[in-house]
Amino acid sequence: MSFQALGLEPRILAALKDAGYTEPTPIQAAAIPKILARTDVIGIAQTGTGKTAAFVLPMLQLLGVKPLVGRRIRTLVLAPTRELVVQIEENVRAYARHMPIRMATVFGGVGERPQVQALRDGTEMIIATPGRLLDLMSQRHGDFSSLDFLVLDEADRMLDMGFLPSIRRIVKALPKKRQTLLFSATLSPEIEALTHEFLFQPSTVQVGRRSNPAETVTQVAYEVPRHLKLALLVALLEKPDYNTVLVFSRTKHGADRIARKLEACKIKTATLHSNKSQNHRLRSLAAFKAGEVRVLVATDIAARGIDVDGISHVVNFDFPKTNEDYVHRIGRTGRANMVGDALSFVCPDEHGDLRSLERFIGRGIPRKRLDGFDYTAAAPPEPPAPPRGPRQQQQRRPQRGGGGGGNVGAPRGGGGRREGGYGGRR
Ligand code: AMP
Repeated sequence: MSFQALGLEPRILAALKDAGYTEPTPIQAAAIPKILARTDVIGIAQTGTGKTAAFVLPMLQLLGVKPLVGRRIRTLVLAPTRELVVQIEENVRAYARHMPIRMATVFGGVGERPQVQALRDGTEMIIATPGRLLDLMSQRHGDFSSLDFLVLDEADRMLDMGFLPSIRRIVKALPKKRQTLLFSATLSPEIEALTHEFLFQPSTVQVGRRSNPAETVTQVAYEVPRHLKLALLVALLEKPDYNTVLVFSRTKHGADRIARKLEACKIKTATLHSNKSQNHRLRSLAAFKAGEVRVLVATDIAARGIDVDGISHVVNFDFPKTNEDYVHRIGRTGRANMVGDALSFVCPDEHGDLRSLERFIGRGIPRKRLDGFDYTAAAPPEPPAPPRGPRQQQQRRPQRGGGGGGNVGAPRGGGGRREGGYGGRR
């Protein structure tokens, strides 16, 4: 199957050639003809399957047929996170590089003015997170009265993040006659309900078994006491093939703590979580993509949809909260048929979660041990407990010794022993 056989036009074929794509992925082969035939489509596919091009390419083709008239908006793509919005935009720019198609992004955490201007001017495509878009639409910015396409990308995650009320209000303001495309990693009853609400006689395309982690990813679990997880991570990072490593932490404070430890061990590390400014997050992602930092430590929501080619390892430093999160996390590696490794650090109180995950994915995850690592070592000094409020300065207190009073951390290790890299200041 070739892109040409799917009926795509020469300007798009040229862009795909520039991008080095030789043939469509299964979701592209299934979805593109349906979208070109003006059918509403439900796409069940995880990121990493090529789903962005599956909806962008046919829309570009249909948009290219007639030019934009007036100050209207012809396409609205809604996605759960700012990172995903930026990523979709990058893809659209690449695929539309030989076409006179304009686009703009709308998301929170940055100034409104350019976004307001773009909405006022009209454009072929707005790629937005629901919250900020609704804000601007409530201020009557943007003429959506002749919208051709609505795309709901990662709809399951948008629901998880509580965006449904905003999405409902946005969709209410859109014309009923439009083509709607909805993509989701899973087809839960909630998503199914959403498709009845927003789509008209949709056709469903599905790739892979539902919730089946990418086949190209090797999954292993390291059983390790909680207090040795950081030391195990550092020891693994001594291996040179760990060159582009995405580490998942359940909490923002945990992510910062891991990053501080790695930096103390001279391992170039960036963080990605929602306590950071938008600029910080984009910089972190860019540095990771460019290979300037070897490790990116992220929380689940921030990492959703990260599209970085060639991630060699995904490390579940903390076990994910849900089995779906696990599937999304490990989908960050092994993308577009490259191979990757997903490692889960599992401490005794996470064993139950691991077993439940194994039942969910329908297979066992092999246990692995790192040769030469002392799994019985005493607890190194723990960093202080995360502050309850945004009182970040508490974190910078010396962890132990000296002043004594006021350290909320209750270090587990008692005294004395300090492992390499555990600096005195956190
Ligand atoms: P996505 O699932 O949209 O996040 O895409 C995952 C990755 O696959 C991205 O890096 C795309 O650039 C890449 N990709 C998408 N379609 C193709 C294709 N047909 N051939 C090769 N790579 C692709």
